[in-house]
Amino acid sequence: MVSWSNAVITAKISCFALGRCCVHPRAELVVPAYLCGMHIKSAVYVISSPDYEKCPAPDRPEYAFIGRSNVGKSSLINMLCNNEKLAKTSSAPGKTQLLNHFNVNYEWYLVDLPGYGFAKVSQSSRRRWEQMIENYLRKRENLTMVFVLIDARHRPQKIDLEFLLQLRTWQVPFSLVFTKSDKENQRTVSMNVKAFLEAMKKDWQFLPQHFVTSAVKKTGKDKILDFIEETNQMLKEQPE
Ligand code: GDP
Repeated sequence: MVSWSNAVITAKISCFALGRCCVHPRAELVVPAYLCGMHIKSAVYVISSPDYEKCPAPDRPEYAFIGRSNVGKSSLINMLCNNEKLAKTSSAPGKTQLLNHFNVNYEWYLVDLPGYGFAKVSQSSRRRWEQMIENYLRKRENLTMVFVLIDARHRPQKIDLEFLLQLRTWQVPFSLVFTKSDKENQRTVSMNVKAFLEAMKKDWQFLPQHFVTSAVKKTGKDKILDFIEETNQMLKEQPE
């Protein structure tokens, strides 16, 4: 049996995200040819949960997606899963403030987390969101990686940088996904990505893995899926 202890996973995969490691953990990873290009055979909506204790049994690796509202999260999830309607399930009225689980290939969970940065939410619903997200991110034992989505059209935003610092406080490994890259020319996107990473350097000794994506042009998809596949493989090979 593989142990899905958060501590083990954190140490094994992503200490770079916590600023504890100078070598990117994947630098030494040799990827066998059979791992190149994860094939999505199935992606099934499982459940929407009000808190981490109601989530499905933590019996497989879990990858969560989060970002500001309207950052392109549903579009990214649909692109990754080859299903234009999948994340609609989770954005249906009443489900936007829940933790939404999808079972991918019956091997790993993809979790659509409610976004941050809603302009018009009450103090009490913001507090509820914070509590639910904090509990989930800190306590969900099979949580392997959080993908934080950043809109590639914009210069670095304080709210995103602050959220990353919060993840560090909670010791949650993360990667960055820049979205909507087709909406600007390539030079602007590169400048914005660079500016974001530069802004991070003020607080971070080491920078995380990042991906540049477009749900319209379907770019970045294979790189994210390969990364997930490699990580799943590493976890399988982890000694008990
Ligand atoms: P969410 O609120 O974060 O789930 O964002 P959505 O996925 O619903 O996207 C918000 C808006 O941005 C929608 O109108 C999408 O069609 C659009 N959008 C999302 N991703 C992309 C992208 O990669 N390229 C372009 N051009 N539009 C996008």
